[in-house]
Amino acid sequence: MSPDHRGASRAVAPAAAAPESGVVPLVDLKAQYLRLKDDIDRRVRAVCEHGAFVSGPEIGALETALATRAGVAHAVTVASGTDALAIALMGEGIGAGDAVFVPTFAYVACAGAVMQAGATPVFVDVAQSSYTLDVEDLDRRIERVARDDRLTPRAVMPVDLFGVPADYPAIREVAARHGLFVLADAAQSFGATLERVPVGALALATATSFFPVKPLGCYGDGGALFTDDARRAARWRAIRVHGFEDDDKTEAVRVGLNGRLDTIQAAVLLAKLTVFDDELEARERLARLYDERLEGVALLPPRPTRGRGAWAQYSILIADRDRVRAALTEAGIATAVYYPRPLHLHAAYRHLGPEPGGLPVAEALCEQILSLPMHAYLDEAAVDRVCDALIAACA
Ligand SMILES: *Cc1c(COP(=O)(O)O)cnc(C)c1O
Repeated sequence: MSPDHRGASRAVAPAAAAPESGVVPLVDLKAQYLRLKDDIDRRVRAVCEHGAFVSGPEIGALETALATRAGVAHAVTVASGTDALAIALMGEGIGAGDAVFVPTFAYVACAGAVMQAGATPVFVDVAQSSYTLDVEDLDRRIERVARDDRLTPRAVMPVDLFGVPADYPAIREVAARHGLFVLADAAQSFGATLERVPVGALALATATSFFPVKPLGCYGDGGALFTDDARRAARWRAIRVHGFEDDDKTEAVRVGLNGRLDTIQAAVLLAKLTVFDDELEARERLARLYDERLEGVALLPPRPTRGRGAWAQYSILIADRDRVRAALTEAGIATAVYYPRPLHLHAAYRHLGPEPGGLPVAEALCEQILSLPMHAYLDEAAVDRVCDALIAACA
């Protein structure tokens, strides 16, 4: 290690000690960096030295590691989770006149990606028990769209909200009955499992995000797609680079975009993968600790009943949420509201319907949901502080 390197290390340390400031942050990326600093610095420096900033060797190494983790034959890295969703839809030829069924309790990117592909999102309610796609409501809405004869039902995009995999066995059954493509939005659930099957292998196609605060995050924007189908993966590889196929950059054989992951981000992710299992275990342990302390205080987050969650967020339901949230802020505890409004009530998507009141479970969740600090480097004393402040605010 060079003297410069050690100096940098010292300079980073005080800033990372967030608890000293009395604030419990929602996530702590500095603590993770300090743990991995030598490995991340070395890998990023190697990219700077070899100079292949786009499509460098780290991309292939990362794709191999990701595919192995996800238990599928192919992983294709892309520029963001949003691009991953749009590229997957484009790869199926889904576009104008096509309906994609999307849970309304989700991130705006879920609707935006569908529009980017030229298709129309049809919003579906979520189940109170999991906050993920309500399969009965899905079935009803597919039948309604098919009857209306205005849009063609083409795909369903379950979202693994907060890291809990959606009910893929039931969704696969409904999708098969209606001939729909299943694209899993696993932006929050990479690392989770359902019935021992890892996220990535639960649907025909799976998209994830490496945005910094996701369970596996890079140092900017990034994402990936997963599939067992070689032809599908080849289409995605072409779409992510302007529609070129097989390294022939002379002719675009399909419509594409510039959706590649940077090599430096791949280098960061290769370092972070070495501790990912350990971090998932820490999140699980902290979630259990929260559960024990908050039982009877608030409605606890849904847990995957047949597998392991990724705990992207620890989100409780609480009456009088905004007042409780203000009290927590006052006590130096960062919180977040994911999400303050369902997709069908955003200005950009209101015209698609339904009217307010039309997707009641999601609408009620938006009033009461509150996400507490959750990351692998949270310590038990901080969890106690969060819980004590919450209990005081609810008294
Ligand atoms: C973060 C997120 C996305 C978008 O990922 P980006 O990498 O930010 O584009 C999509 N869907 C869900 C559920 C997300 O949480």
